[in-house]
Formats: sequence, structure tokens, C-alpha cells
Amino acid sequence: MARLEGPYQQIDHRLGRIESQLDQMNGTNSGHFMTAAEPPRATGENEVKARLDRLISKLAEQDLDAILISAPENRRYLSGFTGSAGSLLITRDRSVLATDSRYTEQASHQAPNYEILRIRGGWGWLVELLKEIRPKKLGFESQDLTVASYTSLVNALKEAEAMSYVSLVATSGLVEPLRTIKDQEELALLQKAIDASDAAMKAFCPMIQEGMTEREVAWRMELAMRDFGADSISFETIVAAGPNGAMAHHRPGDRQILRGEPVVIDMGARVGGYCSDITRTVVVGEADEMFRKIYDIVLSAQLTAIYTVQPGMTGEDCDNLSRAIITEAGYGDNFGHSLGHGVGLAVHESPRVGPKAPDELKPGMVFTVEPGIYITGWGGVRIEDIVILDQGGATPLSKAPK
Ligand code: ZN
Ligand code: ZN
Repeated sequence: MARLEGPYQQIDHRLGRIESQLDQMNGTNSGHFMTAAEPPRATGENEVKARLDRLISKLAEQDLDAILISAPENRRYLSGFTGSAGSLLITRDRSVLATDSRYTEQASHQAPNYEILRIRGGWGWLVELLKEIRPKKLGFESQDLTVASYTSLVNALKEAEAMSYVSLVATSGLVEPLRTIKDQEELALLQKAIDASDAAMKAFCPMIQEGMTEREVAWRMELAMRDFGADSISFETIVAAGPNGAMAHHRPGDRQILRGEPVVIDMGARVGGYCSDITRTVVVGEADEMFRKIYDIVLSAQLTAIYTVQPGMTGEDCDNLSRAIITEAGYGDNFGHSLGHGVGLAVHESPRVGPKAPDELKPGMVFTVEPGIYITGWGGVRIEDIVILDQGGATPLSKAPK
């Protein structure tokens, strides 16, 4: 080949590299492509059927003939479909999943309990279905449907003269309470997510050194969670060193960790859609008197709530179990947030566990217990674990040392 000059030489050089790479790949692979893992297994048909049955009895209770589900977690929970776009229309005898061409094939594998409709956006599909089904009352999820979507739905119904027989009913919190009681399949996925963040805490906490930045610790923790089986993180990792720990939701920055100061690490993994959420507070080097004192109060507040909460208590009762101990120790004003929250497909979901939370805690519910004490100028201590409630009380699902 003639010798090329200038930029051509570079191109020639690059082409040469590409060719030799292709040769290499031919040697090891059957073709110029990569093979990807199988898509995640669909939620079991029986689980989805049980979830739908529970929803349908709710519809009857609320005197609704049908419901339009648009909230992503509810859509996934009720169908098993994991795509990022689509709506469900559920009546007492029909379940329809409407999604666009990117997802119809995936939906037909993942949601065998549903009739799959291929749509192109807009509400035409729903209007057509409503003409057929003629529900008197159609519920929609008022916390999810935007004002713009609602307005365009009303306009589409008016245009089709469907408003004469169907009325739209705003619902809120219809599916969320169903999600609070976890079935076996959900518990298995939750446990995998919990195990990934537990293992990362266990492996990496002892390796945190003086001089590492908050950002570095966050990144190493995220890597470790992926190594231990996480599909992704379930929320932005919090690492708050020294005085930064006084802010419960501090974003990790370039602050270097100093000897003897508390470091709050709050993080979570996601596996099969399910989230974990765990907090540990660690010290590099020797812990001083102050740290030991605060840590002991927070830990005894946490253990007290975990080992005395009972089904039938409200979220507020449970919150009080920890809060009373922190208040008695003189730090009531330094515990500004709720004791915990439900966790599942969303990292924060029902039940609420905090002051003024009337939610009744029932067997099968999964929630966090995370008391904390935050002192301006000094820092914070928070300890968080996920527990499951059964008839006898709560059992922690996370086991990282604390
Ligand atoms: Zn957390
Ligand atoms: Zn939490």
C-alpha cells in the first residue's frame, strides 16, 4: 500500500487496528456481535392473578367499574411488565395493557394475564375500549396522571361523545396499600437487593481510610453493590463525613474523611425492580466519648423499635418506640425525620412510619427502622435496617454489622 501522508496516515492506522480487532474476534467468537444476558424472568402468572384479584375486590368496594393504571410501579406490580411506558385498563373481567411498538413483544412475554394493545400514543385506544366496555365509573390515579394528560383524556372522551356514559373518578392510594403486603416472589427479590447492599457495607466499610473523599466512598460502595448482584442503585448514595452528617440527606462531595469523625453512609441496591435501603455510621480510627454516647442512644432506639413493634400498632406508635428513647436522652430535637418508611418497588412507599402516621402495621409489611441524631457542627449518627413484620413482631432482613 502506498505510504499516506498527513491525516490519511492516521486513518490508515485506525483502519489497521479495526481490522486486526475483527480478526481477533473472529478467532474467539462466532461473529461480530456480543451476546447479552436473558431478559429478567417475568413475574409469575399466579402472583399477578392474586394481585389483580385483590385490586378487583377494591374496585367493587369503591363502586368503580374500571381503573386506568398509569403509575409505573403500580403498572409493574399489577402486570409483571417492566417496560418504561404503558397503561393498564382493568375491569372486573378484562385486563388490558396498552404500550407502544418498542414494548409490545416484551409485554406479551412478561404479562400473559393481559390482552396486549399496540398503541401510538394519545387516548384513542382507551376511547375505543370504553365504547366497548361501557363502564359507568372509570377510576384514574390522581397522583400520577398529569393535568395535561387528564385534560387531553377529557377532550378525547368529549369528542367521542363518551362522557354521556362514563364518568372519571379521581382515586388515590388504591394500589399502594396492596403493595404493602409482600408476596414470596417480592420477598425473594427484596432479599437479593438487601443482600447486595449488606455485602457491600460489610466488604467496604473496613476499607474506608482517612483522606478518602465522600465521593470516592460513594463510588466504591456503588461498585461493590453491583459486584454483589445489584442491577443498579436504588437512590443516590449518601456519604456524609463529619459536620456534613448533620444534614440527613447530604450529597457526597470532595470533603476528605478525617480520623475520629462520624461518617454516615446511606445507600441501596435494586434487584428485579425491588429496592434495598441501609444506613451505617462508621468512624476511621478511634471513636471518641461523644461518638460512643450518641451511637449507643441511636442503636438502642433502633433495636427497641425493631424488637418491640407489633402488628396492630400504627406507624406513629412504632415511631414513638424509638423517639421516646432519643427524647429521654435529651436529643429529641435532633431527630427531625420519620423513623422509617415502607420499601419495595419504590424506595419510599407505604406504610408510613413516623409522627402522625395512622397507617396500621400488618403482618407481611416490610419497612425501614432508621432513627438518627444530628448535631450541627459535629455531625450525625443514623442506623437503618429493613424489617419484615409477622404475627410475632419484626425480623431484620439486613445483617451488615453495626
Ligand atoms: Zn436510607
Ligand atoms: Zn430509608
